[in-house]
Amino acid sequence: MKPDALLYPAPKGLYCPIGDFYIDPVQPVERALITHGHSDHARAGHGHVLATRETLDIMRIRYGDDFCGTSQAISLGEPLVVNGVDVGFHPAGHVLGSAQISVRANGVRIVASGDYKRRRDPTCAGFEPVACDVFITEATFGLPVFHHPDDRAETRKLLTSLAQFPERTHVVGAYALGKAQRVIALLREEEYHQPIFIHGALQRLCDYYQSQGIDLGALRPATLAADEKQDFKGTIVIGPPAAFADRWSRRFSDPIASFASGWMLIRQRAKQRGVELPLIISDHCDWAELTATITEIAPAEVWVTHGREEALVRWCELKGIAARPLHLVGYDDEGE
Ligand SMILES: [Zn+2]
Repeated sequence: MKPDALLYPAPKGLYCPIGDFYIDPVQPVERALITHGHSDHARAGHGHVLATRETLDIMRIRYGDDFCGTSQAISLGEPLVVNGVDVGFHPAGHVLGSAQISVRANGVRIVASGDYKRRRDPTCAGFEPVACDVFITEATFGLPVFHHPDDRAETRKLLTSLAQFPERTHVVGAYALGKAQRVIALLREEEYHQPIFIHGALQRLCDYYQSQGIDLGALRPATLAADEKQDFKGTIVIGPPAAFADRWSRRFSDPIASFASGWMLIRQRAKQRGVELPLIISDHCDWAELTATITEIAPAEVWVTHGREEALVRWCELKGIAARPLHLVGYDDEGE
């Protein structure tokens, strides 16, 4: 059987005709398998959703109890057959609950990795390579220029700045799911034990991470009523990127604008966002990690999706690995 008889890119997302299901569909479908809770992969409105318990919980937190018709939780590594297709979920190391999804039928196995990263993350299970015939990889940072530095060193930059400017408020932009909790956990690992102030949009997800045994330490709301005069001098305040657009961060005294993202490697992006203290912390692989992963898994074929597809396809071809871009639409280039 050719691999694309098992899984192929359709307008609504990756479709498995044998199992009659989609992986991370971008429009409502009858049966969806979801890799992780980021909004470009996990959308509301499907008839039936199969995902890890954490991903289902996260979707419920974000969309409400009626986020889908019916849902089924699957554990990492648990074998399951869906309409004759062997399905497995395996850790992707991206955010809490994130999984790669393997599908197998007629002796062909394809792994759709969703979003993934290879470096250690104190807030989620680490990526596990899964042997397969076709490996579907993201390419958010799929250019050789992308190199993510050590995230502990990036975290220390924030603490160094905090020590240098004790009168100022360090306001850090971080995506609400995954990045914010990881930045907090990294700060705790660097022995920063002061309360960290969080924007209201992060509260429920931070509470959820804590309920799952991920210790984020003392968190306090950073919400200020108009007549309130709370002093945030010398503190770290974390908010979602959207909060910076609505000038939320300017409420704080003499703020230093920081932002935690893999894109902070590009100075121009940091400048455009008015970021004084860019922190290059990513929940995606950099180029070296993408290529090392493909080398390690050694699939017969690589399909590349969302991001800089062409460079990674070219790299595979130069290494003698069959590869093609999938041109899936609907996944956010910013990569939450
Ligand atoms: Zn993601």
